[in-house]
Amino acid sequence: MAILPIVTYNDPVLRKETRKVEENSDELQTLIDDMFDTMYNSRGVGLAAPQIGQDIRLFVMDTDAVTEDIEDEPDLGPMVFINPEILELKGDKIKMEEGCLSIPDVRDDVVRPETVTVKYLDRNFEQKTIELSGWPSRVVQHETDHLDGQLFIDYLSAFRKRLHRSLLKKINKGTLKVEYPVAEKVGS
Ligand SMILES: [Zn+2]
Repeated sequence: MAILPIVTYNDPVLRKETRKVEENSDELQTLIDDMFDTMYNSRGVGLAAPQIGQDIRLFVMDTDAVTEDIEDEPDLGPMVFINPEILELKGDKIKMEEGCLSIPDVRDDVVRPETVTVKYLDRNFEQKTIELSGWPSRVVQHETDHLDGQLFIDYLSAFRKRLHRSLLKKINKGTLKVEYPVAEKVGS
């Protein structure tokens, strides 16, 4: 059990191509536990491996904190997605406000399809396929983007991005006060 420092905006690992996880191991199981600790400690609902400096295709999710007050959304509990593959995106395009533990304090609306079908290995390396809507769908799409080097702010217009510029600069310099451990900036 350990809380890992979260890497923040402009760290190259967030843009790196990630590798498939080839096999289960004690190290992998420990990493998954640590990722949950890290996510809960920072009050996140999802955390992808690149965000703790690992270039592998793995993310964890627990949306119960946001779904427990929403009547028609299921409480799924903690979920692990190894080598996730989005099979289908469908439904209405929904606008929701997103944030990211790697881009602290920055929040903005992102439009994404309502429903996702994702194939993945769970933490026991069992193959699963699940269709999700609402918050879990949103998190799966956001976290899978992380594994492809993509961040939610990439979806924003130049105008919207400009509104966040001073905050992004502070994050880059490492001068923004963050309430959870973040990785030190290279060269700072
Ligand atoms: Zn994120």
